[in-house]
Amino acid sequence: MRKAFNVVRKRQRANISRVPDLEVRKKRLKQVREKAIGNEALLKQAVENLRQNGIKVYRADNQDEAISLVISEIDNDSLVVKSKSNLTKEIGLTEALEAVGIDVIETDIGDRIIQLCGGMPSHPTGPASHLTRHDIARILSAHLGKTVKPTARAIVELIRDEIAAYINKAKIGITGANAIAAEDGAILLLHNEGNIIQVAMRPEKHIVLAGIDKIYPSIEEALNMLKLQTFYATGALATSFINIIAGSSQTADIEKQLIKGVHGPKEISLILVDNRRSDIARSDYKELLYCIGCGQCLLVCPAYSVYADRFGVDSQLGGRGLVYSVLSLEAHARADDGLELCLTCRKCQQHCPLALDIPSMVNKLRLEKRTELLEPHLQTAYDFVLAHIEWVGSAVKLEVLLLIARLLRLSAGD
Ligand code: SF4
Ligand code: SF4
Repeated sequence: MRKAFNVVRKRQRANISRVPDLEVRKKRLKQVREKAIGNEALLKQAVENLRQNGIKVYRADNQDEAISLVISEIDNDSLVVKSKSNLTKEIGLTEALEAVGIDVIETDIGDRIIQLCGGMPSHPTGPASHLTRHDIARILSAHLGKTVKPTARAIVELIRDEIAAYINKAKIGITGANAIAAEDGAILLLHNEGNIIQVAMRPEKHIVLAGIDKIYPSIEEALNMLKLQTFYATGALATSFINIIAGSSQTADIEKQLIKGVHGPKEISLILVDNRRSDIARSDYKELLYCIGCGQCLLVCPAYSVYADRFGVDSQLGGRGLVYSVLSLEAHARADDGLELCLTCRKCQQHCPLALDIPSMVNKLRLEKRTELLEPHLQTAYDFVLAHIEWVGSAVKLEVLLLIARLLRLSAGD
């Protein structure tokens, strides 16, 4: 995982001079997020314009409602292909659909690997970053019942062919959305592999799930976010594809009769999921929803580099993921435990494109749970531990520091 993360960091350093207006873009994005999050009028405008463009729009208050809506949209079909979507992971969509007999095939290469091995993703945009090509070749050999050569190309080609067979068979595709443009009534999707194009073009229906925090005023502002998300997630300046969908394909070429779904789906259904986002937007943690899911905070987080997905809950990774889990997934015991591992070193904040103050949120939650109240002498010792985080050169040393920090907290809680 560290190797994969280092590649991204190296690419960011190499390319940063090619984004001369990076700081201006970040400032603009922050202003847009401040205005958009919790903005009911903007959400209403988005829904109206999406409907005008012929997209069916539903609102789901919670994950059960979202899952029921997806099941009713799938109707009697028993196979769907799905592209990368953190929201579908958040609501446990795949497991819920499989429980009612619907086969769900992940079409992102990394997500398909995770689906086959039954594990958890290690990065929002690079889910299999923690696995080596040898690990993946073993997983794939077991799945296909034949020996797979442990080279990146051989693995990618085999998974691509396996996925293609399912895509050709499926009539319904499910995707997330990177952004919804309110003014234009459009859905924006960002991807590198091209599988989203195939999934979104299934002939019967394209079902899109998006959190209500994905609303942007316009396509232009959404594109600014996508540019930053790409740079911080991968170090690249652009992804291979950005799809902007504002309705089904249609033609009136014959006697001006309007025919919809000429190429691609006859119907597009968008499910806007709240799942406590409105509550968070009204709380002191509103800033958490400004997050664009770039995963930059994971690349620099010392706790994540040691604990990996143990410093997170399922697909909600790192300090940001833990705070989100505590706020959105009831009082989650695993999230509470994870909060204790955060060093509040502020590296995530320093490197976040939006400078989100996740460490203060972690501290606030700890205080609320009455585990933060250190005696002055313990606070001094704890500060010493944090001051030496930069000195850490190995996972073992960091483990020792984290252990000391935890013991200090535990003794304060006695
Ligand atoms: S403050 Fe916590 S979440 Fe942020 S980088 Fe440090 S250890 Fe990670
Ligand atoms: S908290 Fe910041 S760095 Fe982390 S995923 Fe969100 S926007 Fe990116």
